[in-house]
Amino acid sequence: MFDVFEVAVPVEAFVAWTQSALAPHGFAPGNALVLLGVCRDELMFTVESAVQDAWGPAFDISSLGAMVFLGSSGMSAAAHHAPGIDGRRRFLLIVLPHIGVDTTGAIGWVERPGQDERSSACGALAGLQHELAAGAVPSGIDHDDLEMSLLRLELLPRIPAGPVPDLAELTEIARRCATDELIRLAGGLVRDADADVAVVSGLVVHRSDGDHVIVAEAWITLRDDGVRVALALPA
Ligand SMILES: [Zn+2]
Repeated sequence: MFDVFEVAVPVEAFVAWTQSALAPHGFAPGNALVLLGVCRDELMFTVESAVQDAWGPAFDISSLGAMVFLGSSGMSAAAHHAPGIDGRRRFLLIVLPHIGVDTTGAIGWVERPGQDERSSACGALAGLQHELAAGAVPSGIDHDDLEMSLLRLELLPRIPAGPVPDLAELTEIARRCATDELIRLAGGLVRDADADVAVVSGLVVHRSDGDHVIVAEAWITLRDDGVRVALALPA
């Protein structure tokens, strides 16, 4: 389980780490395509902007809750978009759900600019947590609420029996779920695009002292041997 108050680096340091961690493996701005999966929340713009400032325009795989819903069609499209200037195609897959911590230290809340009342972050995951706590989780696909329906479908089987997870626990379940789906789809990149693929999975924490990133796992698979090599996480 993560600690939203301690094990996190500022966004700028996170982005710099992605570059320094991947440089020894041949990744550099201009020779890699980022697939970026975050929540649709405008709070994530800072992170999206910082990643793209460093790596160039990203293929956007974002959905509510940072769930990964692009599927094989979306991944197939991305597979043809990566540069190949030195004969190698490289992909950096980043998935980052988010959670707020307000000035009182309350988890799941943020004070947004121009608003008097605090609001929830991530709102989609907080919504599901409330449904779980109330024992009233809608089932099936609501065509007026597609992404939330899919989010429930994906996360419910992963929620352990027993006490309802709190928002931090549910956010970690969402991160794991999104990461697993990204990895599953990325298998096609390795097979079909014969590519070098790096995966970075973490969590953005909106804190009163600025957005921070917890990197939970990071690794790279080079096309030469297909062996997954763990990247040292930011200190
Ligand atoms: Zn959100």
